[in-house]
Amino acid sequence: MIFEVLTLFPEMIESSCNYSILKRAIEAGIVELHTINPRDYTLNKHKKVDDTPYGGGAGMVLMVQPYIDAYESIKLLENSTTIMLSPQGKPLTDKIVNELAQYNQIVMLCGHYEGFDERIREIIKPVEISIGDFVLTGGELPALCLIDAVSRKLEGTLGKTESAEDDSFTNGLIEYPHYTKPREYRGLKVPEVLLNGNHKDINAFRFEESLKRTKAKRPDLYKAYMEKSKLKN
Ligand code: SAM
Repeated sequence: MIFEVLTLFPEMIESSCNYSILKRAIEAGIVELHTINPRDYTLNKHKKVDDTPYGGGAGMVLMVQPYIDAYESIKLLENSTTIMLSPQGKPLTDKIVNELAQYNQIVMLCGHYEGFDERIREIIKPVEISIGDFVLTGGELPALCLIDAVSRKLEGTLGKTESAEDDSFTNGLIEYPHYTKPREYRGLKVPEVLLNGNHKDINAFRFEESLKRTKAKRPDLYKAYMEKSKLKN
């Protein structure tokens, strides 16, 4: 998987990918990370990449020329998709993450200030993705969320002990609770069933907990799960 990130702040992306599982995935060659700075492509003699909005109003708008030239410098592979990080996009979900993990190359456009000159959208025609109904100062944190979530779906990124199999959303539910040593802390005990080594009982306990949690914390997911189960039976 090659991630190509168009950003005015490449260090934010590069430094954040230099830890733990992502770092390992890059070193193992499962993930390749490239950053492209539109500032390196601006034809403006003052190296400007943003300007005041036509029509007036607050904030600065990212200029079309540096972004388009930076984008066109990327060699697009056949199995590639281009994403604009935007609060106006469709919300990122596990389903979308799974779909994105099927590509060989994901190009990401990170905005800043007031956002992009509309012609960047019109020319590139990216898929717009949001990480939630709130507005951040820039697209770098959303791009990092996407890189992280997609990378952990790629074969080999997670070690055996870090399997994503039971993760929240994978089967439509959120995950059961976890415990580790000690067996008791401040009077709170690890559920007995997890200590008896009976995997049938353990699986049944975890499934029940998963259902209970989903019902309590995410009634929307619970309802969808129950409806799907009814259809299956
Ligand atoms: N004026 C824009 C609007 O209201 O739609 C918001 C611009 S925001 C301050 C600057 C940049 O941050 C955006 O261009 C986008 O790349 C990124 N961004 C902010 N919030 C985001 C979110 N929830 N999801 C994805 N990207 C976001």
